[in-house]
Amino acid sequence: MSSAPFNFSAGPAMLPAEVMVQAQEEFRNWNHSGISVMEISHRDRAFMDMAAAAEQDLRDLMSIPDNYRVLFMHGGGRGQFSAVPQNIAGPDATVDYLHCGIWSDFAIREAQKYVAQVNVVGATVDTPQGRAISAPETWQRSSAPAYFHYCPNETVDGIALHDIPDVGDVPLVADMSSNILSEPLDVSRFGVIYAGAQKNIGPSGFAIAIVRDDLLGRAQGNTSTIMDYTVQAKDGSMYNTPNTFAWYLSGLVFQWLKRQGGVEAIGRMNHAKANKLYEYIDQSDFYSNPVHPNYRSIMNVPFLLADNRLDGEFLQQAAAAGLVGLKGHRFVGGMRASIYNAMPMAGVDALLDFMRDFEKAKG
Ligand code: PMP
Repeated sequence: MSSAPFNFSAGPAMLPAEVMVQAQEEFRNWNHSGISVMEISHRDRAFMDMAAAAEQDLRDLMSIPDNYRVLFMHGGGRGQFSAVPQNIAGPDATVDYLHCGIWSDFAIREAQKYVAQVNVVGATVDTPQGRAISAPETWQRSSAPAYFHYCPNETVDGIALHDIPDVGDVPLVADMSSNILSEPLDVSRFGVIYAGAQKNIGPSGFAIAIVRDDLLGRAQGNTSTIMDYTVQAKDGSMYNTPNTFAWYLSGLVFQWLKRQGGVEAIGRMNHAKANKLYEYIDQSDFYSNPVHPNYRSIMNVPFLLADNRLDGEFLQQAAAAGLVGLKGHRFVGGMRASIYNAMPMAGVDALLDFMRDFEKAKG
């Protein structure tokens, strides 16, 4: 294969080609210093300036209000599964969780270690039109939870909750690992937004937490210091040595996203990419998507073949055609096309061409 493949991996996922080229060019000589960004102290003025610019770019992109702190954390998405209850709920607290899929389930199990009561308010429901999320009127919310947690984009299931839940004064916490920066968002509706970086931001192991000021100062006494939002906010996310390379690369991705026209422009593109795929899948008898049309993810598009004995052949031929990372999550099987911000429309078109040809040959 001569040209680069289109990479549909769910995460770590493809990064914008422009960013990879820039990082490569600067790899051994960052900022005219003659050394790599990985070899510079995080206290160095040039690094601190870059780090602050990355934060500002993220603030601009997401229109993050001034009363929110942006934290660059360790430990990826799952690190935040424990950081959230430890930081904003006491050990005797009740917390509410909406169960939207596999990642919600992991978040719930982690929270159970740190608070007295994890109340699951609602879950997915199977309907004749596919899998959906139970309606807000049916949710069994607690009277005074420390927070309400949900995952607006379930990466494995391809399920999304497009409407932000209205939970009144209860701090709303969202795991946006797989949909952060994918379209415009009203950050002011949330208490905490967090995301593992390896889909729409940068390298894995890194995470962003956007925390409303009034939720600081509540950490449980035994919270490990590197996961303490209050300490990290006070220390500019440099209580200990941050993942400097991930911070730098994320900054390049933020600059790239600004050049694309920000979240409005990328959101229009993301909807167009997803719609094209779903439209084709829906009119085909050979492929199917298991999710109710109102709850479909624009980032992760799972699909099944009518005859799953062809799965192996599909994946093999797709890879040979330069379409990689299409295997569904090991828990659910089938196929999944993850089409994050960095995936160009040309990648979706190439996938659709391949799917049509495969259907013609096997259908
Ligand atoms: N939440 C969601 C929605 C995810 O998709 C993932 C990873 N795929 C995680 C959490 C966990 O992220 P990490 O592997 O960085 O801990």
